[in-house]
Amino acid sequence: MRPARALIDLQALRHNYRLARELSGAKALAVIKADAYGHGAVRCALALEPEADGFAVASIEEALELRAAGIKAPILLLEGFFEASELALIAEHSLWCVVHSLWQLEAIEQTQVHKPLTIWLKLDSGMHRVGLHPKDYHEAYERLLASGKVSRIVLMSHFARADEPQAETTAEQIAVFNSAREGLAAECSLRNSPGVLAWPQAPSDWVRPGIMLYGASPFEAEHPQAARLQPVMTLQSRVISVRELPAGAPVGYGAKFISPRPTRVGVVAMGYADGYPRHAPTGTPVLVAGKRSQLIGRVSMDMLCIDLTDVPEANVGSPVELWGKHVLASDVAMHAATIPYQIFCNLRRVPLDYYGE
Ligand SMILES: *Cc1c(COP(=O)(O)O)cnc(C)c1O
Repeated sequence: MRPARALIDLQALRHNYRLARELSGAKALAVIKADAYGHGAVRCALALEPEADGFAVASIEEALELRAAGIKAPILLLEGFFEASELALIAEHSLWCVVHSLWQLEAIEQTQVHKPLTIWLKLDSGMHRVGLHPKDYHEAYERLLASGKVSRIVLMSHFARADEPQAETTAEQIAVFNSAREGLAAECSLRNSPGVLAWPQAPSDWVRPGIMLYGASPFEAEHPQAARLQPVMTLQSRVISVRELPAGAPVGYGAKFISPRPTRVGVVAMGYADGYPRHAPTGTPVLVAGKRSQLIGRVSMDMLCIDLTDVPEANVGSPVELWGKHVLASDVAMHAATIPYQIFCNLRRVPLDYYGE
């Protein structure tokens, strides 16, 4: 059997969820969109459900997969519905629904629903992606109440730069949000992972942690709260071939690596078809036989090469951690000029093995 595997530590997932609640003192929707950032939404939801206040996903398709697996907790659709015809299922399955645009508000007014809806009314406080304009916010709130179809409204917005602790725009977004919700007696929700970790002054009855649940820091620099997270996913494989090369020998496609010294090269069963980033260059960290080493040459579809020159004990069969508890996914992401979010979401083909139930 091909040795490539992603191990998922459910105990670490629960630890990170509890940390989000502890740091915020708020109720927390575990964000498990995009198959829980590649970690498997159903298994992650089942592991968290006994203690979770609820979940958040990107679409009704993702929500119905959770309901079909028996998840009873609240599930929020972060972009609401994409067409009004989804409202019947949203009511039937008691899903919570974001309203981010006036067209969605009008659709609710014009559509029959059989059960009252829980709406999260989204304000554009400065990110300028989705969300209602501050001048429309109060009226939208009143219209939702007047529609007779809504039993509960939560006020929400989303940060554009909460991962930059120095950025002033986050404080500005908080001020815009506070001014837009003045006079509205409703719960509110602002904080994503960087918001939970670094912006305690943001009002929040509810927080929406995503990346932090999976144990990766949303920050580029070190951060004392992010240091308390536990990585959940370990992407591992094994060395399947070893060769000794003299100095001056090219390795892999495009001869992007030429050995500067006599080099012992290990080939690992892992490639970009598994989601390992093809843009990771020579020097990207790996752990082999318990020691840190590095990638060399280009990543190919099913294999990649690593330097074993200083790890003489490594041989065919030696375990390799591509990212996990020792090699942080955010470190690999930085080398590949991307973010851990994308590193996790790109995972495919490798079987997921769960432990720590
Ligand atoms: C994805 C998402 C989150 C989670 O963001 P993280 O940075 O992963 O914590 C929170 N809120 C909304 C609206 C989202 O779309």
